Amino acid sequence: MRPEILYPLFAPVTTLPGVGPRFGKLIERLAGPEVVSLCWHLPSGLIDRRFAPTLAEAPAGAIVTLTLRVDAHLAPASRRHPYKVRCHDKTGFIHLVFFHARPEYLGRMLPEGEVRVVSGKLERFGAEWQMTHPDYIVAPADGEKLRAIEPVYPMTAGLPSKALQKAVEGALDRIPDLPEWLEPSYLKRQGWPAWRQALLAAHRPQGEADLSPETPARQRLAFDELLANQLALALVRAQQRKLPGRPVSGDGRLQEKALAALPFALTGSQRLALAEIAGDMASGSRMLRLLQGDVGSGKTIVALLAMLIAVESGAQAALLAPTEILARQHFNTIAPLAEAAGVGIALLTGRDKGKARTRILAGLASGETALAVGTHALFQEDVDFRDLALAVIDEQHRFGVHQRLSLAGKGRAADVLVMTATPIPRTLMLTSYGDLDVSRLTEKPAGRKPIDTRTLPLDRLDDVVDAVDRAVRQGARVYWVCPLVEESESIDIAAVAERHAHLVGRFGARVGLVHGRLKGPEKDAVMAAFAEGRLDILVATTVIEVGVDVPAATVMVIEHAERFGLSQLHQLRGRIGRGGERSTCLLLYQGPLGAAAKARLKIMRETEDGFRIAEEDLKLRGAGELLGTRQSGLPVFKMADLAIHGELLAAARDDARLILDRDPTLTGARGQALRTLLYLFERDAVVKTVRSG
Ligand code: ADP
Ligand code: MG
Repeated sequence: MRPEILYPLFAPVTTLPGVGPRFGKLIERLAGPEVVSLCWHLPSGLIDRRFAPTLAEAPAGAIVTLTLRVDAHLAPASRRHPYKVRCHDKTGFIHLVFFHARPEYLGRMLPEGEVRVVSGKLERFGAEWQMTHPDYIVAPADGEKLRAIEPVYPMTAGLPSKALQKAVEGALDRIPDLPEWLEPSYLKRQGWPAWRQALLAAHRPQGEADLSPETPARQRLAFDELLANQLALALVRAQQRKLPGRPVSGDGRLQEKALAALPFALTGSQRLALAEIAGDMASGSRMLRLLQGDVGSGKTIVALLAMLIAVESGAQAALLAPTEILARQHFNTIAPLAEAAGVGIALLTGRDKGKARTRILAGLASGETALAVGTHALFQEDVDFRDLALAVIDEQHRFGVHQRLSLAGKGRAADVLVMTATPIPRTLMLTSYGDLDVSRLTEKPAGRKPIDTRTLPLDRLDDVVDAVDRAVRQGARVYWVCPLVEESESIDIAAVAERHAHLVGRFGARVGLVHGRLKGPEKDAVMAAFAEGRLDILVATTVIEVGVDVPAATVMVIEHAERFGLSQLHQLRGRIGRGGERSTCLLLYQGPLGAAAKARLKIMRETEDGFRIAEEDLKLRGAGELLGTRQSGLPVFKMADLAIHGELLAAARDDARLILDRDPTLTGARGQALRTLLYLFERDAVVKTVRSG
């Protein structure tokens, strides 16, 4: 149950003064549905209304607060002209200008002969001063209140800024003093205010400097959020560690057979990763390890060998892929090796129906099929394993934590190995996995040649087509990627279809086309034709981004490279340079390039190091946008900006660890306060597990 002290913050925004259903909807879209959402909606700017010059001193274009006497209302001759009110101070005259005016209302606001304090942007109109639609018009008695610094909030269409300001003020009126969850000595050392004071300070900037994410107030709020995130992860992890594991170890006989069937030797980092995995599996606690490696670093083989350890011990293992294409590809890589080792293997995807599916399920249930490769279909309730000891999840950021755990739940204390091909920056990894054990494949398999990456303006398309022609004549296989404009899949597909037609005009039938609208079997057929060399050129949307492996492909053309994020470009480029041949990547851009796009293309020319690219991407885009937030499964932060607060994250992790060492059930005084923190950042689910656990 949410602590009572937080109730006012979790009431709907419509309970705030001045917020009815209409504004309520707009605020919900802008910030969120609850009062607390407005607390997190921090100002992005400020207006200084303290500047109160006379008209003679005032500079044009400034926001000023003027004390004026109203002379006369000048109604316009027609509705098309503005309504003007002439006023003066002791140094000069000004017209206040109103379009679509309501004379009656203005008559009340600006009575002739009276003094009013007026604030807004001062403009020059010919030789005269004017102010169009002043932000404020108040009686002299209220003038002092007006001469202040006013926060400016990020807006949404249809919601007047004053209404939003008033709603935020209402939300701030509700914030309670919460029990301190931070260590007093730490708080003091950092020079941070208490939570309530921090929130108030963040909403009431006194100058531009107060808008920086690095003010003590904003740092504190960011730290709180990161601490809630790290504490939640640490709690889940502690929970998992409590679950009994089982020691699983093999005798190496199946691994040996598979290795003998490989045309290459493992790299040093593959061997090291495998040893780390084997160590975890052999231990009595459950493995939860991340196998991180750049595209093409050879994770699949490592996964297979780990799976064979499970089989050697008499149990089963499953490999889960995010897409049908990938599941098939993994299956195609793994199946011959499994067969060489004499191990039964099955592929299960959403396409398997009826008798075929029944047969596969029977194999898994009896244990006759020791290895399974599949998609989400493996999660389905009627899928039973005789004895699943290891679940490998090729994640690519598409599975959430729950799904990860639900496959593990199909086994008896099954170990979990998560593979990610997108090298996540360390900081982000902490936020979504906490203290997960990590193995990294840092070496590229031997014999790989560096990729020659070049950038060219799109208007040199003809030269590019000529170059592709020369490459194809020499036997190259070419990926040609057209960008995805997320709003409309059909427009994207029209664009790739057009490029496909253009290239067919030049190269004939040896140009294939794949995109997201194709049915599974059609897609597979085209991919297979390209893999087998029956097609020279494959025109594609980003469906080829994820893990597709055609080692013979050596040329990648990416149109409108400026529209892609860095990580995505890196993923795409990773489709080539996988064989022993030299590869070339041509990034075609439409100028003029913005600064960020220029920086992205430069980094692509400079490096192939996925970890460096991921870090640069974080810097360039900020964590929120990285990896396409929503699908990514990575948490979205309200107060913390990881590009800036990265160091706080490490501190939050350490603090979380310390907290749980001292008070694993969060029952002490600080523990109770921390529970409130978890609720404040809506980590309720985790709090429940602590209580029941
Ligand atoms: P990832 O899944 O990390 O992107 P893969 O496991 O698909 O990489 O491997 C990419 C390619 O490299 C595959 O064709 C694979 O057979 C090959 N490969 C894997 N390990 C090695 C190695 N040690 N030496 C040479 N080639 C390797
Ligand atoms: Mg792979």
